[in-house]
Amino acid sequence: MPALWNLPDFDAHEGVHFFTDARSGLRAVIAVHSTHLGPAAGGTRFWHYADDADAVTDALRLSRGMSFKNAMAGLPMGGGKGVILAGPERAKSPELLAAFGRAVDSLGGRYVTAEDVGMGEADLVAIGNETRYVCGLPVGEGAAGGDPGPYTAMGVFLGVKAAIKHALGKDSADGVHVAVQGVGSVGGGLARLLAAEGARLTLADVDAARAEALAGELGAATVPADRIVGVEADVLSPCALGAILTEQSIAALKVKAVAGGANNQLATPDDGARLHARGILYAPDYVINAGGIINVALEYLGQGDRAEVESRLHQIPVRLESIWAESEKTGETEAAVADRMAMALIGRA
Ligand code: NAD
Repeated sequence: MPALWNLPDFDAHEGVHFFTDARSGLRAVIAVHSTHLGPAAGGTRFWHYADDADAVTDALRLSRGMSFKNAMAGLPMGGGKGVILAGPERAKSPELLAAFGRAVDSLGGRYVTAEDVGMGEADLVAIGNETRYVCGLPVGEGAAGGDPGPYTAMGVFLGVKAAIKHALGKDSADGVHVAVQGVGSVGGGLARLLAAEGARLTLADVDAARAEALAGELGAATVPADRIVGVEADVLSPCALGAILTEQSIAALKVKAVAGGANNQLATPDDGARLHARGILYAPDYVINAGGIINVALEYLGQGDRAEVESRLHQIPVRLESIWAESEKTGETEAAVADRMAMALIGRA
């Protein structure tokens, strides 16, 4: 493996921390990309990686994405990310979570953790027994905080509606065909909100039973997970894992817009240009999927309630509109415009 700072995804990260705990078997990476705007905030991913180097790459990419996301969401937080390397059996013990909590604590508040793929509220509660640098904990009725998933889904819903308005000129999702890839916390929540507004849905998940169950509930269609990208629809909403927009998948797209909750959807910056060249509107992922971090950051900061979170979620479509307008003015890709705006905000213009 090349030196950390020679990895393609290294972006002058302020710190990349490796943790092990022999007793619990913890192996984890915490990447702090930037603390320019405040403590580096971002969830922890619990995932089995075929190659350990992929975990480091994920931490580097995801933490940079959090810097951009938090800045564009107007939060006084920097960007960081935790990755716990799960074994193939994905076992998660109380000892392992406690050891991770101590790892977070050892950074003294430079990094604040929350949920991400593979980590739920109960896991955060366990981590919170060891550190106060944690959010996404259960909260009372009407308070900001708790599971970020539903807020991410709500923000993505508002962003998808903005994309529908921009690309199709329609004020409602009624009758609009949206293909949703991944129907977990974010994709499932999004599908429910879209269905309630009368959208036509095609769903896919590698857990086919999960997609079928939701489709039955919502009256939606399903396709096998490997077919969703090629579905002819108005909008594709990637809500599974990252790097799904590649030269090959973009060539197969039959939609007018891509707007979804997954992090790091573009496999490479060139893929932003490929989408743009095909005239497919793109909602930069870290702008549209900021709802969850807005919710848990307000919880962590002790600022505002659920109504404040919801009012900030309504800024997501406004931000997307400003990116699309700038992209149309300058000819840059949507992704490049968003990156430029975010870099300026974190002092790296
Ligand atoms: P989740 O684990 O609840 O759901 C993900 C779903 O995607 C699962 O049902 C899984 O089976 C499915 N999936 C995985 N690979 C797939 C594939 N190749 N094709 C189809 N389905 C596939 O996770 P989530 O919390 O819903 O997060 C989804 C995405 O959104 C992730 O990229 C995550 O980083 C991002 N995100 C989540 C939040 C949040 O608040 N939960 C916030 C911002 C971004």
